[in-house]
Amino acid sequence: MALAREILRASATEARVGGRTLNCKGVVRQLSEYLNGALDPALAEELQKHLEHCEDCHLVVDTCRKTIQIYCNTEPMALPAGVRERLERALAEKIGRQGR
Ligand SMILES: [Zn+2]
Repeated sequence: MALAREILRASATEARVGGRTLNCKGVVRQLSEYLNGALDPALAEELQKHLEHCEDCHLVVDTCRKTIQIYCNTEPMALPAGVRERLERALAEKIGRQGR
């Protein structure tokens, strides 16, 4: 199963990319599309291969991916019951005291 998939992928890569290997510049150029999942599968494969042996690009991709994940997965956190009230009261007091 896995082997068949490898062979399929390898031939697809060869057919579409023609054996060209991505260099670091190419990786950076394709980075946003790659992270969006919009990159051509053959190119994505090339990119992944490059990442395996290029620590610099691996770091760049990894950092970007994590940054995106953090931004996309973060939902506004609801404050626990009571905290919001206390916070507002404390702020109101502080503002009231400082007022004028
Ligand atoms: Zn590189």
